[in-house]
Amino acid sequence: MHQPLYPFSDTLVRRLREAERVAVLTGAGISAESGVPTFRDPDGLWQKFRPEELANVEAFLDNPTLVQGWYAHRRAVVEDVAPNDGHRALAALERWVVGRGGEFLLATQNVDGLHRRAGSESLVELHGTITRSHCIDCHAPAHESALEAGPLTCENCGGLVRPDVVWFGEALPEEAIGRATEAAAMADVYLSVGTSSVVYPAAGLPQIARQSGAYVAEVNPEPSDIAWRLHEQVRGRAGDILPEIVGALGAAMPRPDEPLP
Ligand SMILES: [Zn+2]
Repeated sequence: MHQPLYPFSDTLVRRLREAERVAVLTGAGISAESGVPTFRDPDGLWQKFRPEELANVEAFLDNPTLVQGWYAHRRAVVEDVAPNDGHRALAALERWVVGRGGEFLLATQNVDGLHRRAGSESLVELHGTITRSHCIDCHAPAHESALEAGPLTCENCGGLVRPDVVWFGEALPEEAIGRATEAAAMADVYLSVGTSSVVYPAAGLPQIARQSGAYVAEVNPEPSDIAWRLHEQVRGRAGDILPEIVGALGAAMPRPDEPLP
């Protein structure tokens, strides 16, 4: 009798082979495997702040230099880490699906840009990205590297420069959540990876997929709050499990040193 080596079902592999549309949601878990901290742990200079205290527009307007400094620190942290095998496997899965004429969309709650660095192209960053900034007045893209003593301001109009992220109290960008919702509703297979599924509307996406007829699997070390509503729970780290799924499909995994497109 076939003894599966991996903790996922033959059904998941078969459904992926048959799928015309595949959609994926990722959360903090896959970034944590690369060593991206949650910024809720003791973190040197910034440990006296909770993210909620800094990641909101009132805090920014009150002390732009402080909030800009926190994001400069976070960008430095992210630049020091690399995408892991979980990120690379999702880029490989995208290439495999698209190469067969299918459609693929990866929606992430992460703001660290690691999926893009791993080569994912069909990507929606639901909470934005700390790798870009813009002016709050004229909305022009801004360079954040020249952070000095004072607040960083726009080269065009002198407005304050903020990161392209969704702060506490702000709505998700309509275009992003719209694309992610449509992909969930159209998907034949939906994977929820490394997310505790407690933050809505992202947590609703796997449920929309399930209600719309997709086969929905969760890849997470621990069951999420919505795991019982999904078809399959795959227990483990994204960096261990996703390459095995990609391997079971016969899709090629990029090497860590493979040049990015
Ligand atoms: Zn401006």
